Amino acid sequence: MSSTDRIYNFSAGPSILPLSVLEHAAAEMTNYKNSGMSVMEMSHRSSIYIDIFEETKADLKRLVGVPDTHEILFMHGGATLQFSAVPMNLIGKTGQADYAVTGNFSSLAMKEAKKYGEVKIACSSEDKNHIYIPAQEDIKVSCNASYFYYCSNNTIFGTEWKYIPDTGDVPLVCDMSSNILSVPIDVSKYGAIFAGVQKNMAPAGMAVVIIDKALAGSELSFTPKLLSYQVMMDSDSMHNTPPCYTIYMLGLVLKWLEKQGGIEGMEVIKAKKAKILYDVLDDSKLFSGCAEKDARSDMNVTFRTLSEELDSKFIKEALAAGFDNLKGHRIAGGMRASIYNAMPAEGVQALAGFMREFEAANH
Ligand code: PMP
Repeated sequence: MSSTDRIYNFSAGPSILPLSVLEHAAAEMTNYKNSGMSVMEMSHRSSIYIDIFEETKADLKRLVGVPDTHEILFMHGGATLQFSAVPMNLIGKTGQADYAVTGNFSSLAMKEAKKYGEVKIACSSEDKNHIYIPAQEDIKVSCNASYFYYCSNNTIFGTEWKYIPDTGDVPLVCDMSSNILSVPIDVSKYGAIFAGVQKNMAPAGMAVVIIDKALAGSELSFTPKLLSYQVMMDSDSMHNTPPCYTIYMLGLVLKWLEKQGGIEGMEVIKAKKAKILYDVLDDSKLFSGCAEKDARSDMNVTFRTLSEELDSKFIKEALAAGFDNLKGHRIAGGMRASIYNAMPAEGVQALAGFMREFEAANH
């Protein structure tokens, strides 16, 4: 398949990667920089690989603006393993934690944390099937919580927090899996940030964790070594063989991101892309957005037509026209267009045009 045969892939994750990144990786697949081997074949302790690792980490630190108070970790297991790692590492301080439940993944994280301590729901959007984000005044933070947990972008329901919750002295922990690198982050406000990499960062197989160094070191005694933030910090994420190739791919994505103007540049680009689709939804009599307007995600645009039959027709015809993975998550129904950083504006424009044509043919 040549690069011109590529379709527009709106998958929620694993998801589209920049074409230039894939081509770059392909070009050095069998012989990285005259080493005579693929990055996949290198020892993680070799100097050539350590250079890749260090450059990727330094680029991430610079692009995200990670202060020296915080450490970047590359951890196995994707985002879900962090649902366990977070309480194992952080709940020990008081034995309690607060969770904002604004979607499926924060609900799963909250249930996992209950195994390790006392968990309170500080706010929830479940009453309206997660189509909104609770306001600051609706959040009840417990003064004795070890941390406050939320998920900044709800991949399934298509909602995104537009503000950082104010939790006083209680450290903030955030799952940024589906909007990291799309908006600037004030890392100093967070105790811990984590993200599964398979949306805006790299192929699947890893989570990036950004941890306030002061919070590490008080994990529960039975915490597996590979889930201990302190062990991972002390070994620079190399307690065992790290996901070497995924880290290399992250490095390439970061070089690409830099060329787009970094995260600040991406913030402008992604807002324009999202507006194209939300404008179609707002002008339409056939399509409607699922999320409340002030909570709409710029990464995952959820919408539906007037009936499930028409939803299925739309998804089928969209696929035939070259737009793949538009079916909504099974627990939300309808449609979802995931327009992560790597989705070109032309792809979003083309989808918007297709939606207008579909409406004209099915009104
Ligand atoms: N959190 C969020 C916000 C997600 O979107 C996902 C996956 N789509 C997860 C957690 C779980 O990620 P993983 O499959 O890497 O465990």
